Amino acid sequence: MVLVIVVVARGYYAFRDRVPGYTLDLKIEAARSQAEPRPLRAGFGRTRINPDLSDPKRPVWVAGFSQHRAATGIHDDLWAIACVLDDGHTRLGIVGLDAIGFFHDDVVAVRRRCAAEWKLDYTVICSTHNHSTPDLMGLWGKDVLHSGVDPRYREQVIASVVNALGEAVGALQPARVAFHEIVVSPDGLLEDTRKPIVYDPNIRVMHFISSTNGATIGSLVGWADHPETPWAQNTELTADYCGVLRATLENGFRHEGRPLAQGVGGIHLFINGAVGGLMTTPPDVTVRDPWLQQDFKEPSHEKSRAVGHQLAARILPELAKTNPATSEFAPIGIRARTIEMPVANKMFLAAEYLGLINRGQMRWKRMRTEVALLTVGDASIACVPGEIYPEIVNGGVERAPGGDFDIAPVEVPPLRELMPGRIKFVFGLANDELGYIIPKSEWDEKPPYIYGDTEPVYGEVNSCGPETAPRLHSAIAELCRDTNTGGSSKRGSSPAPH
Ligand SMILES: [Zn+2]
Repeated sequence: MVLVIVVVARGYYAFRDRVPGYTLDLKIEAARSQAEPRPLRAGFGRTRINPDLSDPKRPVWVAGFSQHRAATGIHDDLWAIACVLDDGHTRLGIVGLDAIGFFHDDVVAVRRRCAAEWKLDYTVICSTHNHSTPDLMGLWGKDVLHSGVDPRYREQVIASVVNALGEAVGALQPARVAFHEIVVSPDGLLEDTRKPIVYDPNIRVMHFISSTNGATIGSLVGWADHPETPWAQNTELTADYCGVLRATLENGFRHEGRPLAQGVGGIHLFINGAVGGLMTTPPDVTVRDPWLQQDFKEPSHEKSRAVGHQLAARILPELAKTNPATSEFAPIGIRARTIEMPVANKMFLAAEYLGLINRGQMRWKRMRTEVALLTVGDASIACVPGEIYPEIVNGGVERAPGGDFDIAPVEVPPLRELMPGRIKFVFGLANDELGYIIPKSEWDEKPPYIYGDTEPVYGEVNSCGPETAPRLHSAIAELCRDTNTGGSSKRGSSPAPH
């Protein structure tokens, strides 16, 4: 009897809602700003989020591959980088975080700590999904029964995100923006490790320059690939290719005293995209450093650098071309909504019960998460709270032979067909990390395995369940339709995010 009480009490405690009553249904129309245009302002800020490695009694567990991977050093700095945009009516904060994932409860903690006078109407916090950073999700501790999250580090990251946002608000200045979409082939950069083979390989950029002197204030770069280039044996913390890219856009690249690439200054923010299915640069992909003219195959920091240089080499020429294409008006529209996500994955539930995954539920087997559809001028941004498979974004969802459900594709039409605007960004791991978002018609836990595979496919083990993709696709599709039709003009029907 006592045991039953203890087991049930533990359950209540582990699954308790951490932010009871938190609901968001935000609708801010760009129409207001279009009717009465005011000049755009942009500001950037950043805060280092390196953990303290000085105490051998408190090892820092590195996330993403296996348990018991203690950090042995810091190869390059980890950052929380914020960009704040203000169209004179609406203020939007966007944060890119060098982290494996950042749960929705933590996002709410950040929002609640942002000062009211910063007047942020909405914030999006995206993890880069970096696999060489301290565990913030709990799955990679000293063993499978212990969380890898150090509560002090979690607190440091939350405070740093708030700080970076505050800095970015303080740095707001008149800006012009240009959007670029750069067509990229995945060859020599990344691989899709699961059928069907669909990528989201293009780079999308928002480039902000000062209205007064034309200098670069910063940029926001979206691309889709797992930052896990140094692979499973690496124990040195690094921002991977994301950090190399940001630093190279800012400072350029010098080698042995010779300048091989010119930077543009400013602060640059990287946001990962549709990384599911899964997009990665594994040890069998050879990456050529475009400036050193050297190939890198074995996982290493130099290989991460080569990936970052490959991206920077494509982006820098576009940034140089920005001037003629800029606009000083970029009306901001925001549609964001709390949704309930069913959790069918028994491993996730067990991990929550054991306290490995420290996040609450709205009710039994329902996690609180959030979707958003933003517009900035003629760009749009779908904010997806996890690792979405690119076929849901770009098309190509299949009725996979051998799949567990044997149904026609559910997540259609592809999100990019529904999204408004000219340049369509997908922010992955936005305001949450729910794991893989797998098309239901490709879901496969039971034999026969899809496409005649003899081995079980990878992905389902790190997904909330087969309803994740249908639920998110329909929620984002609804926001797109609402945005396209203008919807009604009500604003924030439920408690404000603060
Ligand atoms: Zn992943």
